[in-house]
Amino acid sequence: MKIPQVPGCSGIFDSVADTYLDTDLRLWATWAFWARAAPGSCLRETSDQNMSDATSPERNKRGEWRPSYPIIPAPINDWPPSPIKTFKWLFAWPGFIWPENLFWLSISVLTWAFLTPELAAMKTFELWWIAILFARNLVLISLLFGGMHYFLYIKKSQGDRLRFTTKPFPTKNKRFRFNHQVRDNMFHTLASGVPILTAYEAITYWLFANNHIGFFDFSSPIAFWVWFVALLFLAPVIHSIHFYFGHRLLHVKFLYKHFHSLHHNNVQIGPWSGLAMHPVEHIIYFSTVVVQWLIALHPVNALYQIHLAGFLPAPSHCGYEKMNVARGVDLSAGSYFHYQHHKHFECNYGGSMIPLDKWFGTFHDGTEEADQQLREQLRKRREDMAATD
Ligand SMILES: [Zn+2]
Ligand SMILES: [Zn+2]
Repeated sequence: MKIPQVPGCSGIFDSVADTYLDTDLRLWATWAFWARAAPGSCLRETSDQNMSDATSPERNKRGEWRPSYPIIPAPINDWPPSPIKTFKWLFAWPGFIWPENLFWLSISVLTWAFLTPELAAMKTFELWWIAILFARNLVLISLLFGGMHYFLYIKKSQGDRLRFTTKPFPTKNKRFRFNHQVRDNMFHTLASGVPILTAYEAITYWLFANNHIGFFDFSSPIAFWVWFVALLFLAPVIHSIHFYFGHRLLHVKFLYKHFHSLHHNNVQIGPWSGLAMHPVEHIIYFSTVVVQWLIALHPVNALYQIHLAGFLPAPSHCGYEKMNVARGVDLSAGSYFHYQHHKHFECNYGGSMIPLDKWFGTFHDGTEEADQQLREQLRKRREDMAATD
């Protein structure tokens, strides 16, 4: 385990450096406690209510299924504010903090503590440490994306329950490299996604190691930790906002045609579709960490931001509303929001945490009424375009 040394950060890093070792240990112990206390870590018991809500039995003739409830933006957006709902959303089990974000944060902390070279060694770009980052990113992404694909689509551990469509992934389709969607998706993820994610991570550590970022000089360790924790809460918000605007940009005609259409080749989505992007899209998508370059004090803040971008596409593209991981125990996948985007293209560019789609008029709540509304909008637009020609 390492104590991060960020030379030249006058005062604050030195003053809190000694506490990092303890903090890393505490975080590890806390994570281990939770993991033990809740077998299967981020699992939750499925209540009767949840089951009946989530398992609306109707599957149409095309093999499509939808949840029986509309998508609702997170209560932090309610106006007038609803503090009790927001508190529950944040702290209840299962909630925004645990398991959703603490699970990913635990991976970031463990990765930083055990699978990252010393910051001082990363002052100059050298092949050996970049190779270490690349190898462990390759393993982490393969385990997560491959693991989810294995359980959902090879082992078929929950069959078609809560699956959005029963259509199989194309295997003889020229749109895909190797004429095979899953192999195509794996290729883009591992050959482009992982190297570009690793490049951003390497640049981040190099910037920290050379004191180009992380200079904030707080007068007390308390101020440091308050900002450190605030950034942990902010990271999913930053991810959500950055993703929305980057994604809208990618739907500009030129960028869509040359780059983003590759991601949209995936109509039936699975975990490997999440990072199946053109390298230019990977560069835009992972640039979310640049925000942390401007405000982060500690590399863990930046690493957490990178990990959210690297890991979240697996559950958000898994093709299931919830993942069953043990008898009667479902893990919320939350991918129906983004599934609508792959289905209809012109809606749900962001996520349901920050309702930018609502504010910009592109929100689809997943219901049949929203389907009809969208069709009507498109029909009107076609008519307007025909009238102006
Ligand atoms: Zn798109
Ligand atoms: Zn997608």
